[in-house]
Amino acid sequence: MRIFIAASEAVPYAKTGGLADVTGSLFREYRRLGEEAYLFLPLYRRIRESFVLKDTGFRIHLILGDRVIDSRILSHNNSVFFLESEEFFDRDELYGTPYGDFPDNARRFIFFSRAVLEAAMAMGLRPDIIHCNDWQTGMIPLYLKTLYNNDFFRKTASVMTIHNMGYQGIFDASEFNLTGLGQEWFGIEGIEFYGRINLLKAGLISADMITTVSRHYAEEILTPDYGHGLDGLLRKRASDLKGVINGIDIEEWNPSNDRLIPDRFDQDDLSGKMRCREKLIRECGLDSIKGEAPLISFVGRLSRQKGIDILSASVKRILDTGSGLIILGKGDAEFESMVSRIGRNNKGRVFVRLGYDEGLAHRIYGGSDIFLMPSLYEPCGLGQMIAMRYGTIPVARRTGGLADTIEDYDPVRDSGTGFLFDDYTPDALICSIRLAITTYSCKERWERLIKNAMKRDFSWKRSAEEYIDIYKSLQKRKE
Ligand code: ADP
Repeated sequence: MRIFIAASEAVPYAKTGGLADVTGSLFREYRRLGEEAYLFLPLYRRIRESFVLKDTGFRIHLILGDRVIDSRILSHNNSVFFLESEEFFDRDELYGTPYGDFPDNARRFIFFSRAVLEAAMAMGLRPDIIHCNDWQTGMIPLYLKTLYNNDFFRKTASVMTIHNMGYQGIFDASEFNLTGLGQEWFGIEGIEFYGRINLLKAGLISADMITTVSRHYAEEILTPDYGHGLDGLLRKRASDLKGVINGIDIEEWNPSNDRLIPDRFDQDDLSGKMRCREKLIRECGLDSIKGEAPLISFVGRLSRQKGIDILSASVKRILDTGSGLIILGKGDAEFESMVSRIGRNNKGRVFVRLGYDEGLAHRIYGGSDIFLMPSLYEPCGLGQMIAMRYGTIPVARRTGGLADTIEDYDPVRDSGTGFLFDDYTPDALICSIRLAITTYSCKERWERLIKNAMKRDFSWKRSAEEYIDIYKSLQKRKE
């Protein structure tokens, strides 16, 4: 099968969050499974500076509003294609700065969506499937049904994966002209959304199949609380909506040969984890952590979605238990200053690092005892799976992929891989943390919990095969 993955980020090329892990890993897994997979990405500045790319010699010319834009197609390993536009993508950041999104994001990603289809035609590469990801590529399925409903794409089916309903690509109605679509598409049955345009909606009304990244989230987004205004539309398309849980890259995230952690370990010998823990405590200057108390951590975007507000409100009570707390994150300015204030006020007990730091993230997963994910909502979440692979026990809210991947600890049967709580409140979070700490104080129980967690299979293979089954069923529909 010839599969295109179109995305605004993918590891190892560009990453701001879990989306990049998903697209990059899926691409690699398809190749490993022998599929003819191609990845399409915008050529951001960092990619140009960090990889040696080949000019394919192919060019595209496309109309965007009242302009014609020319673009080169570059490639890496002949299977990853980059659409070049100095004007749109030669920037340090992908979507914006902590102070706000780039003002031309609609233009940038309408361009990119159309450029993927133009590139396919320019290179004579007919895809069986175009797998689109999030609002940045949401226009592609709609283009396949409109401007690109031609002989070249006659057999091409589209899949739209929602990685996060909280980000829909909503822009001013004046940007509609950029799409090149007829006015009939600016309406409730089209991409209009409360007087504006919504690029994720474009994908949801027109993709042959919609998927999201966990089963639980696939159900949640049909409700007003989680649907972010698109639950009605999704309910109409419920028969074409499926949840496929993400995996993690088990080679990158492997405590038995991870060079980014100071000591290696596996489930049969956890002594390396203890050394990682000691070094992490020293690195973060958490001298006041009490002997028997756990090291608790958080790694993630500092946004409302991740539960930073209930976490901040719980810090005092977490510290009352004698635990040490590490927070690594980057995100909204408001939360960044809130979290750094917590760090300043609790020196030696809370360590805060603002920014994106791959190495520190590994050391935190390796050396912590408890990993917090108090998310308001969580389409899938990778942090909890990575943490479990490193024997770091998640305390998480029972939502989305957290509910699918963490088995709640049962003290009677002594089974489970983490601790789940339901209410989105500091009280519920702290209650769950206390239960974890009580369990932690019983070394044998805790070690069993660690082993249960480390035994779980979070590899991509299973998910990749599920997607391929979906693609096959879509191909049949096109025959
Ligand atoms: P998101 O909603 O941001 O996609 P996920 O849990 O799905 O959240 O994925 C987040 C990924 O990004 C994880 O691999 C996590 O370790 C990583 N990550 C998030 N924030 C940081 C950071 N500040 N530094 C290093 N890695 C980070």
